[in-house]
Amino acid sequence: MVEIRPYSDEYEEYIRDESRTQGRADSISFPESEADVRDVLARLGGHVGVTVQGARTGLAAGAVPEGGHVMSMTHMNHYLGLRREEDADGTPRYLIRVEPGLVLSELRKALANDSVPTDGWDEESLAALTQMRQGPERFFPTDPTEASAMIGGIVACNASGARSYRYGPARPHVTALRVVLAEGDVLALRRGETFAHGRELDLTCEGGRHVHVDLPGYVMPHTKNASGYHAADNMDAIDLFIGSDGTLGIVTQVELELLAVPAVTWGVSCFLPSEDAALDLVDAARPALAHVSAMEYFDEGALEILRRQRETSAAFSALPEVPDGARACVFVELETDDAQQALAETYELGRLLTSVGASEDDTWVARTQVDRDAQTFFRHAVPESVNMLIDERRRTDPTITKLGSDMSVPDERLHDVVAMYRRTLAAAGLESAAWGHIGNNHLHVNVLPRDAADFSAGKALFRDWAREVTAMGGAVSAEHGVGKLKRDFLLAMYGPDHIREMAACKRQLDPAGILGRGNLFDEALLPGTEAATEKTTDTERTTDTDEGARA
Ligand SMILES: Cc1cc2nc3c(=O)[nH]c(=O)nc-3n(C[C@H](O)[C@H](O)[C@H](O)COP(=O)(O)OP(=O)(O)OC[C@H]3O[C@@H](n4cnc5c(N)ncnc54)[C@H](O)[C@@H]3O)c2cc1C
Repeated sequence: MVEIRPYSDEYEEYIRDESRTQGRADSISFPESEADVRDVLARLGGHVGVTVQGARTGLAAGAVPEGGHVMSMTHMNHYLGLRREEDADGTPRYLIRVEPGLVLSELRKALANDSVPTDGWDEESLAALTQMRQGPERFFPTDPTEASAMIGGIVACNASGARSYRYGPARPHVTALRVVLAEGDVLALRRGETFAHGRELDLTCEGGRHVHVDLPGYVMPHTKNASGYHAADNMDAIDLFIGSDGTLGIVTQVELELLAVPAVTWGVSCFLPSEDAALDLVDAARPALAHVSAMEYFDEGALEILRRQRETSAAFSALPEVPDGARACVFVELETDDAQQALAETYELGRLLTSVGASEDDTWVARTQVDRDAQTFFRHAVPESVNMLIDERRRTDPTITKLGSDMSVPDERLHDVVAMYRRTLAAAGLESAAWGHIGNNHLHVNVLPRDAADFSAGKALFRDWAREVTAMGGAVSAEHGVGKLKRDFLLAMYGPDHIREMAACKRQLDPAGILGRGNLFDEALLPGTEAATEKTTDTERTTDTDEGARA
């Protein structure tokens, strides 16, 4: 039987995540199987708050407990099997089944080295693996920068990253899930099998219990979006759980589609004399280049930090030198079938660079793995350097933390949103550095507070931005999820009525409101155990008997 251990200082790291938010906990467990997960829930008695954790690389404090129990999925990290399917035209699809605690970098390594552990796999899985080996190398395209993230956390946040320009977020690559609900029932969801009728969803758990769910009525923004529950007419049931931030159920198994590794991948870092030129390049490149997998941005503040790090920090001395006069950088990754195609797109990119007033000479083209690794080091050095800078400033004022935005807007509002960021940052006199997924109009604008006053000015600015971005048809969280830190933004985006609908939807699946307490919305919308039990009426949650009446 899995242990439920009292919380002690030994588990200190489990009460915070990469947002550097500090929480508190009463107990902790490390289940090794779905049965363990159900057993822990049963022994906790149905009223203790449960915060599920992956690798705690989240940036929205979703995995940070506010008391109660911490359930760490780190021991559930096995490869369970592989399926082969064929599309109508006979193209094979390979679907790998894994536990949620599997670390992304491990999955990548195992696929790249053809070393996926197959202990306990059935005949069908082993046969599928043999067939997969005869074709091109396969990969899982979601790339949330931080490769120590776990598959369950990636699913729970509907994580994205640089390559979402081509591949979208994690969602479309998730083909099946097993989810343990708060009361211990298990849902086995396969994409394409269970759909909502309009905004009403009827789910049947493995034990036969039926759960009726009323989906929130909002219209989601037509942008990259990880803000609140996925809700759309006639949607696939699996999509409600992807991106639900640990609030609707505990993911115990994930099936992911593996894609064929492209034949050629080149990275081109384009340095530009101004931000306007960079935005013009993005506008021009989007329709002109057909094989872009990522389009990333680094503003002047980010480049300045890199220049400084290269001079002053031994860890970053290997960084390539940023060209003189560069005030912005757009990184374009091309994935093509052959080198000729890549060359043609690179030439076209060069032509576009000239047309926006930049020079082709100020580009780095990475064609080999070694060169691409150097570019990756360069790109990842930015967030790392900012974290180091903030840690240094926290020594003088421990109340400050990094403030990073995660908002997206539709294509046609890219220039407007950047102008809004610049205008308001300048008016507030704040230091900043911005980088991120410009192809998706999704920048992480980081305010770098020097003191507590800057910190609160930055927070106020983010609240304004949440309203402005919503008015532009955008999303307040495009990829990190809402967690505990962006609840106010979610409220600004959807308004109180829709937030209440989200909370009601949660209570149909988790009547006592025990999972992911504090994530997405205020706990006041999820009354404590007694109140929740009393208020769990027939209209909020159906059973086998009243399900029939609904049908
Ligand atoms: C330097 C850096 C860069 C980053 N860049 C990106 C980026 O480009 N794109 C991006 O999308 N993200 C990015 N992230 C954020 C982060 O890596 C992702 O959000 C990742 O998906 C979190 O995975 P995790 O395993 O660490 O989850 P955690 O942080 O442990 O948890 C995140 C949420 O998922 C829930 N959860 C975890 N496991 C389960 C489960 N089994 N069942 C139900 N709920 C669960 C938790 O309760 C919590 O609400 C970045 C983070 C860092 C530190």
